[in-house]
Amino acid sequence: MRLQTRTRLIRLAVIAVTVPFLMLAESGKASEQVPAKKVFGGIELPSRAAPAPYGFYSKGCISGAVALPTDGPTWQAMRLSRNRRWGHPQMISLLEQLAHDASEVGWPGLLVGDVSQPRGGPMMNGHASHQIGLDADIWLTPMPDRRLSAEEREDLPFTSMLRKDKFLTVDSRLWTPSHARLIMLAASYPQVERVFVNPAIKKKLCDTWTGDRSLLGKVRPIYGHDAHFHVRIKCPVGSSGCKSQAAPPPGDGCDKSLAWWFTSEPWAKPKTDPKKPAPKPREIGVADLPKSCVAVLNAPSVANESEVTLGGDATPVTAYAAAQPAAAPAAADPIDVTLKDIPIPLPRPSDR
Ligand SMILES: [Zn+2]
Repeated sequence: MRLQTRTRLIRLAVIAVTVPFLMLAESGKASEQVPAKKVFGGIELPSRAAPAPYGFYSKGCISGAVALPTDGPTWQAMRLSRNRRWGHPQMISLLEQLAHDASEVGWPGLLVGDVSQPRGGPMMNGHASHQIGLDADIWLTPMPDRRLSAEEREDLPFTSMLRKDKFLTVDSRLWTPSHARLIMLAASYPQVERVFVNPAIKKKLCDTWTGDRSLLGKVRPIYGHDAHFHVRIKCPVGSSGCKSQAAPPPGDGCDKSLAWWFTSEPWAKPKTDPKKPAPKPREIGVADLPKSCVAVLNAPSVANESEVTLGGDATPVTAYAAAQPAAAPAAADPIDVTLKDIPIPLPRPSDR
């Protein structure tokens, strides 16, 4: 009886999510006109399926995403209204593990920023990547020793680690050895593919890091990323729809490639011909994403968030131990996967 009610609830949720998109898809042209970021940004829950990223970090989607609980013993999720705490179970596990291990390097806990939307995909604002549940942002502000209110999590300002009065220079009044140790800890996990930081932060690490320099190569300089850093994990084993990124070049990256950021070139305004205004960049439509993303959009939805929050019921527990990829059973029809099974990173059938 209870089970029937539950099934009905799930069906209702499925219809709620599916119908609007089916209507778009059937009208063909319309689905191309509606920007993918609007479609993906409007979905509140992940698909009820085996976890699987499709496409590339900056062009794709994810099925079967799970949520990072808003609170754990050593983390607090920020900007909750964005609904971007969703990721591949291996990403969520890594965040929980990093949050746990951070205390060992003198960092009291993580303030976690965006991971991905419930079904990944492009976003209305903020990121080019974070589309397949394998990217996450972590604030360079340590977690306070109290629970922040939901309001504080919306409003707490970002703190840049850079000086405002000096070009690309870390502010030594804000930067601590723990900042360096936290970033290098993140880079130390084998599943981590890259860690993105501001070039000034990369330079600071190059100048001061006395630990294992081989890990420095994973720490990549990029625009922004001065108040948070960004952790990217590799495509999980067996996820054949996930497009891997080439490994970072060998070496610590404290070389010409870093020096380039300290020239004027990366910061120069692009030259435009005043007679020929640059064409407006075309909006990315759903049809521009991997084909599987249409299936991800149309797939049944989970009934609610707590069913796919690692730990269940959004309780603040550490779930990474339970989510380790032990001898996971082969997933049959992903729709048949029980809700209980969803947080386990199952191998994905290769044809989906
Ligand atoms: Zn990011």
